Order: sequence, then structure tokens, then C-alpha cells
Amino acid sequence: MPTCPNCQHSFTWSETVRRSFKLNSGVKCPSCEQMNYPTKKSRTRSALVSFIPLPIILLSNLFYPLNWTGYAVFLIATFIIVLSLLPFTIRLTDKEEFLW
Ligand SMILES: [Zn+2]
Repeated sequence: MPTCPNCQHSFTWSETVRRSFKLNSGVKCPSCEQMNYPTKKSRTRSALVSFIPLPIILLSNLFYPLNWTGYAVFLIATFIIVLSLLPFTIRLTDKEEFLW
């Protein structure tokens, strides 16, 4: 789980999931009110975790084609799995790092 680099407050899983959609713009620590930003490395890791389902869907279609219901169930299950794993990939820093 991400921790605040200033006060070592450990964000909970639900805090991280709720704020993960706006982590690119920074998140305020609820304990010390300091702005935190995801590290460059953790943003790359989060993007990789988010794209893991894509090759699985493409390869599964070659070997085991699914109908629309199967794809819907697969996408919902994948979304839940990725969302539950995402907080574990995030590390925070007090300085904003740009990808490029
Ligand atoms: Zn803090």
C-alpha cells in the first residue's frame, strides 16, 4: 500500500482505490495534508497491470472464442481483479515526476 513520504501514513486499500482515478494530479495525505504524487516507476507499473487483460483477451479469442456474455463476465472480472491489484503498485513521493 502507498505511504505518505512525509508522515509515513499508510493509505488504506479503499482510500487508494477511491483516489487512484485522480492520482496523476496528486493526492492530499489525510494525516499531514501534504500533497503526494505517484512515482514515475509506479505509474509505469500501474499502466502495465492495467494492460495485462488485453493480450489475455486477444489470445483467448484465438484458442477459446467467447460469446458476448462471456466477454462481459470476463471484462467485469478483469476490472475487479485489476482494481484490487492497482493499490499495491502505487508508491508516492512528495515531488511531482513527469513521465517524459
Ligand atoms: Zn502524510
